[in-house]
Amino acid sequence: MNDAVKEIVILGGGSAGWLTAGVIAAEHKSHLATGLRITLVESPDVATIGVGEGTWPTMRNTLSKMGVNETDVFRECEASFKQGAKFVKWVNGAEDDFYYHPLVIPNGYSEAELVFHWQSLQNTISFADAVCFQGHLCENGRAPKQISTPEYAAIANYAYHLNSGKLGEFLQKHCKQRLGVQHILDHVVGIKSAENGDIEALETKAHGDIHGDLFIDCSGMASLLIGKHFGIPFLEKKGILFNDTAWAVHAPYLHDDSPIASHTISTAQSAGWVWDIGLPTRRGVGYAYSSAHISNEAAADELQKYIEQSVGEEKARALSFRKIRFNPGHREKFWYKNCVAVGMSAGFLEPLEASALVLVELSAAMISDELPATKSVMNIVAKRFNRRFCYRWDSIIDFLKMHYVLTKRVDSDYWIDNVRRESIPERLQELMSLWRHQPPNKHDFPQAEEVFPSASWQYVLYGMGFETQQRSTEKRSNSAALSSQFFKETEQFTQKCLSNLPSNRELINKIYQYGMQRC
Ligand SMILES: Cc1cc2nc3c(=O)[nH]c(=O)nc-3n(C[C@H](O)[C@H](O)[C@H](O)COP(=O)(O)OP(=O)(O)OC[C@H]3O[C@@H](n4cnc5c(N)ncnc54)[C@H](O)[C@@H]3O)c2cc1C
Repeated sequence: MNDAVKEIVILGGGSAGWLTAGVIAAEHKSHLATGLRITLVESPDVATIGVGEGTWPTMRNTLSKMGVNETDVFRECEASFKQGAKFVKWVNGAEDDFYYHPLVIPNGYSEAELVFHWQSLQNTISFADAVCFQGHLCENGRAPKQISTPEYAAIANYAYHLNSGKLGEFLQKHCKQRLGVQHILDHVVGIKSAENGDIEALETKAHGDIHGDLFIDCSGMASLLIGKHFGIPFLEKKGILFNDTAWAVHAPYLHDDSPIASHTISTAQSAGWVWDIGLPTRRGVGYAYSSAHISNEAAADELQKYIEQSVGEEKARALSFRKIRFNPGHREKFWYKNCVAVGMSAGFLEPLEASALVLVELSAAMISDELPATKSVMNIVAKRFNRRFCYRWDSIIDFLKMHYVLTKRVDSDYWIDNVRRESIPERLQELMSLWRHQPPNKHDFPQAEEVFPSASWQYVLYGMGFETQQRSTEKRSNSAALSSQFFKETEQFTQKCLSNLPSNRELINKIYQYGMQRC
């Protein structure tokens, strides 16, 4: 087979490049002479984006499949545990306005109609607290496991908060030393095309031409291959998701041993929201906002005030903020000819719900699973990939937008504009009409590996006070008794976890000291 796919070239050494390299190299035995050859080229002159500290629980599986020890992730990437997101002031902006989107699905989710039963109790308990123990763990700063729980195993499902720069360095070392990935530090200055329009080689400043059979574009916002070279149109989504700028900063803790939050804190502001991600030695904090609704200076002032609340004026004033502009949207297609885009080169919506790295993981996994054996079947795989990922991007857009649509805030144009009908995708409008009469369920999201399964939609909907009416005609159900039983179980399990689980910081310190048991 002289059109066999044997050489993969990845352009870009950010989180997308190294995660993709690691996933494919581990599965296709790149460390062996008989395995697939993978070369990653990254420019010494173009920095990585340097943000992206919130992940999704899929990251555990991704790292484990690459053969990474979880203890090393904690020791080398400044990782901490993430058990979901706490949304503060998204509904009405009041001091007591918050809800959780945990990472554990509701107890009894597929067995009882929990929503209807919870609605009769909603004045006494939030949806998340009634159906899941994890919000309580977060409120109490608990870790999702004990030191005796093996690597990657969990008592409560979890993801990571980590230092993205250190993750890149860590993955680079692992990919080069253990997985056989070739690394070239050089700037790509041109692209050589074959007669059929495929990419034949990347031209570099100092290493000549780098040839390959499949090229993976992880060049970040520059989108050098799929965007600049092939001109695949960019579908801008600013009319739906307004945020296009962020101020980002590394914020200190008040004390060295201050608690580390076990969840991302997402606090609504006048024209966007602030993320607050707790790492062991610092927090990653930033304000994602709409530049059409607030000036950069006013946004920086809001972020400053947010940080002052936790560490005081003096510490907050000493910090330097970094501005990052982004254009929310994605490419019309992601795989074209012998090139597939992964990461920021494929698109980016906004940091809410940490959906970017999970898309990188899913893309890398599908490329690896479906890796065309020959160039002759490349287009068939490309078509399947594009169909899958167009669906995923659309679904994420709907999910993110729902966080804004359900607000009752009218204190700024940003929140008022966000609920305007013309800014809401048609599919989301349809789903929300349906959900007035039935809670989200598996039929709404029928694909395997949905990025946000129906349980996630329920946590946000009912966390934000959405009402679903029971049907007016009788339906066979033993749900009330069953739901009560599940709620009681959740309460008991919550108490058990609160008595047995250490704090996030305690567990991380133990991991530094003893390590976790290998699985
Ligand atoms: C404000 C903000 C907050 C975010 N927060 C989150 C989050 O919490 N969770 C999450 O999942 N995601 C988040 N993201 C997204 C996340 O940061 C990215 O998806 C992730 O870092 C992957 O980036 P990347 O590797 O695609 O691009 P980059 O990190 O930008 O890497 C691009 C690479 O391409 C190389 N390159 C560029 N040009 C050339 C050239 N000519 N020759 C050779 N090499 C070249 C560069 O050297 C670099 O190595 C956030 C993004 C933003 C903007």
